[in-house]
Amino acid sequence: MDIGGVIFMEFAFASYDEFLEEYKIYRLDECRKCKGRCELVENDITCIIENRSLHFNTLLVLRCKKCGAIYLPEYSKQMINYAYKTAVKKNQIIGVFHSKEYKKKFDYCKDTDFDYDYKDYYNIPGLRYDDEHSVEGFLTPVYFEKGALVYFLAVPEYEVQIFSDSYGYFAHKDSSGMYQYDWNVPFGFNTNGKLVMWLGDISYMDDKTRAILKGFNVSSDHLLIDSEFYQAQMKCIFSEPITEYKILLNKKTFIANINEKYSIDISHLTDECQQQEKKVKRPVVYSETEVTEVINAYDKILIEGFDVSKMKELYEVMYSSNERDKSYTSWKSIKLIEAILNKLAISIHNMDIASVMSPLYVLHDYRNLLDHLLSIDKISEKKEHIINTLGVQNFDDQKTIYNEEIKRLNILFNYLAILSR
Ligand SMILES: [Zn+2]
Repeated sequence: MDIGGVIFMEFAFASYDEFLEEYKIYRLDECRKCKGRCELVENDITCIIENRSLHFNTLLVLRCKKCGAIYLPEYSKQMINYAYKTAVKKNQIIGVFHSKEYKKKFDYCKDTDFDYDYKDYYNIPGLRYDDEHSVEGFLTPVYFEKGALVYFLAVPEYEVQIFSDSYGYFAHKDSSGMYQYDWNVPFGFNTNGKLVMWLGDISYMDDKTRAILKGFNVSSDHLLIDSEFYQAQMKCIFSEPITEYKILLNKKTFIANINEKYSIDISHLTDECQQQEKKVKRPVVYSETEVTEVINAYDKILIEGFDVSKMKELYEVMYSSNERDKSYTSWKSIKLIEAILNKLAISIHNMDIASVMSPLYVLHDYRNLLDHLLSIDKISEKKEHIINTLGVQNFDDQKTIYNEEIKRLNILFNYLAILSR
């Protein structure tokens, strides 16, 4: 057996009974040899059972990403078994099997005819052993171009929330106002950058959304296991963090995405940020001191936590010399983030940049408030600016101020994390 970058593989069983022993073993997503993660891949396979040689021009196998070990998943073993029995019946010593173009469809979303591979459902560990849904095929992965999310981000009736670098939810707001959402389904990205959702979840969506999604639908590349989406959905190792932490996670994701795409590290004072992160928690009584402490920590992390000179470098990469603002060399974090967001959101025509950016200006006001040399007049001016920006009646209403600020920071960093992908 060749290992790593395999194009040809052979499995040999001395007898049919030996094959049946293997058939009984349910192969998992974790490699038995090294505990690495396996992914489903297509390969040329030869399977020898006793004296019969069965060739499959494409068969799905589980391959460990770490050590290259290969395992036969359940449905592929079923196909081998069927091929063996056919060879015995026809008295063939050598059998060649081509993958048929047969595309089984499950009883979900029958009207939209999404492209997906039913073999994923039978081969990827765990998907068919789903106790929650009685109709077969619910957890079939359906793949889309990631542009679908950018499209839905631009339409106000939808909500797209990402809460880690590759896992989030996609929802349609309820127009009657009775519920928060008409439907709300999880999505993820696989290691190939494709957007993945479950077929059964898609069936909860309205016809209009399904029709739009269909335009972004692509064929399965079978990659799913090594994603936060699969790991979280199958093993519940991840639960949605509170909004306060989502903001921090999305800031990190934004920095990582920029680093990957432009090789520019815009992070700054990483240790200091980690210290400040400990102060980020939902207030208990919403006293002015308590709220100010959390908001001030956000100021340190979300404004001072960006490297101004690196962001100028990024600005120069994103904007050609004749596009640049005359005064950009004197800009600080907030203006630079605004310019970067403007460029990233170029395909979103209805984004209200001033409102999306407003929470960072509020953080800036808070920092001024903490300046002990500020005169009484200046203090009330800053407070006035904060309540006007956030649309709050009174500065004493700290709970409303806090909730509105957090809500807006979440929207801003959600945009930065998704659009920088
Ligand atoms: Zn391994």
